[in-house]
Order: sequence, then C-alpha cells, then structure tokens
Amino acid sequence: KELWNTNQPFELTFPLRRHDGAYRWFLTRVYPLLNDRGEVQQWIGTNTDIDDYKKAMQLKDEFLSVASHELKTPLTSLKGFTQILEMQFQASDNADAATLLQKMDQQINKLNRLIIDLLDVNKIENGQLRYNTESFNFNVLVVDVVEVLQRTTTTQTIQTHLDDPVIVNADRNRIEQVISNLIANAIKYSPGRDTVIVSTQTTTEEVIFFVQDFGIGVPEVHISHIFDRFYRVPGKNRESYPGLGIGLFIAAEIISRHHGVINVDSQEGKGSIFSFSIPRQ
Ligand code: ADP
Repeated sequence: KELWNTNQPFELTFPLRRHDGAYRWFLTRVYPLLNDRGEVQQWIGTNTDIDDYKKAMQLKDEFLSVASHELKTPLTSLKGFTQILEMQFQASDNADAATLLQKMDQQINKLNRLIIDLLDVNKIENGQLRYNTESFNFNVLVVDVVEVLQRTTTTQTIQTHLDDPVIVNADRNRIEQVISNLIANAIKYSPGRDTVIVSTQTTTEEVIFFVQDFGIGVPEVHISHIFDRFYRVPGKNRESYPGLGIGLFIAAEIISRHHGVINVDSQEGKGSIFSFSIPRQ
C-alpha cells in the first residue's frame, strides 16, 4: 500500500537537488486530518532540511568508532597487568591488595563492556554485526546469566520461574548479551527494591523471556523511544543512573535479527516488565 493510502502519519527522508546542483537531505513529516467518518480531509506536512544534522551525526559516529577502537587496546593490557598483580599479591598473602585489584578488575570489565557496546552500535549502523547460530538449551543460558548477575548485587534477589526446557537455534553470545542487559537494567533501575523476577514461557513455536522489576518504571510518553540509539529517559531523578542509552538499541537489533519481538510494559514509579520472544528450534 502507498503511504498516503493508509490514513496514517508518515515520515520520509530523501536528498533534493538545490539550484546550484548540490544535493541536501530533507525530512518530510505528514499528518492526515480526518473527518468523523475517518476519511482524510487534508494532509498537513512539514519539510525540513536535515543535511547539517545528518552530517553531524555521521561525524559523531565516526568519532565514536575511532575512539572506542583506540580505547580497547590499552584497556586489554591494563586488564592483563591487573590480573598479574592480583595473583602476585595473593601469592604473597596480601589479601587487602588482592581484593582492591579484584575491584579494579571489575571496573575494567565495566569499561570494556561500554566500549564493546559502542563498537556494536557502530557495527549495527554499518550492517556488520555478525551472528553465529548454534543449538542450545535456552533455560541453561538464563540460569547461567542469572548466576553471574546475582553476584553483582547484594541488595536484590533474582527469582527465577522457568517453563519447560527449550532448545533454540540462535547466537548464544548475543542472546546472552540481551538477557544480561535486561536483567542488569532491572537491577539498576530499581534501587531500594529487593526482588527482580526472571521467567520464561514456552509455546509450540517460541520461547518468551520476561524480566520484571518494581523500580522507577518508564513514563508512557518515553516508551516508544527507549529502544532508540542513545535514548535515555530524561529527568532530574534519572541523571544519576549510569549508562549511554545503547543497551536496548542493541538488544532490539539482536532480537529482530532472530525474528523475535522485544517488548516493554511499564508504569512510572511501579516498575517494568521487559520481554522478548525468539523462535524455538
Ligand atoms: P542505559 O541504561 O545505558 O541508559 P538502555 O538502552 O539500556 O540504556 O535503556 C534506555 C533507557 O530506558 C534508560 O536510560 C532508562 O531510562 C530506560 N530503562 C531501561 N530499562 C529500564 C527499567 N528496567 N526501568 C526503568 N527504566 C528503564
């Protein structure tokens, strides 16, 4: 169907040639005005020159890509040295120093994760994110991820309610990244609460993963944007939560490439349920 036969608002971006021969990108936004019978009476539209914006975005992407590449190498060395030092202090019975180095190693892991995420965003933009599919037990993966993340919090308990075991044919590391991200968010955005609930539901065609928290939630007007690249819900009380706003963007991309659906059901101040489905083998 043509865009204008659907009676729905739509957007288009396209290059236009200027009088001097230069091409510039434009964004057209169109809204229908309907009568009581739901027929279009009139279309209202705007046409905006987004060429400068587009070029600035490209520069930002290039910068992030180069910067994250350059950060990765020294960080890898730093991690190596930290681990060597930790072993040496352990061997010489200096437990305090060893514990500090262990904490340092955890922070290096966080930094590493941020850099890898930034590189992933860049790969997604360029269509270069590669997937290696294999058959594996989905429930085992969930249990593994929960175990790792449970060690990152002393205040919250991650409860699990898993349905029958199910085999999926998917990229294990990428699905692990999604599960880990959603649970880590549930913990991060529910300070002062003591429970996060992870569950799965198996149907004849797919497996659905759910993670529920009782935290700050997402205001309705922002829900449609939280899967966008670099989007973080604004607000004074939210600025203290660390993050770059790319985890959900990457998660949505990974799930869509697995022919699945990612979803959120949230109420501000009450909590959120994030879920995704992927086909079973
Ligand atoms: P980040 O957490 O690094 O900001 P994400 O892409 O993971 O980035 O999430 C995007 C935004 O969605 C977050 O900034 C936050 O505002 C909101 N969000 C994500 N998960 C939750 C959650 N479980 N509860 C409340 N808000 C959330």
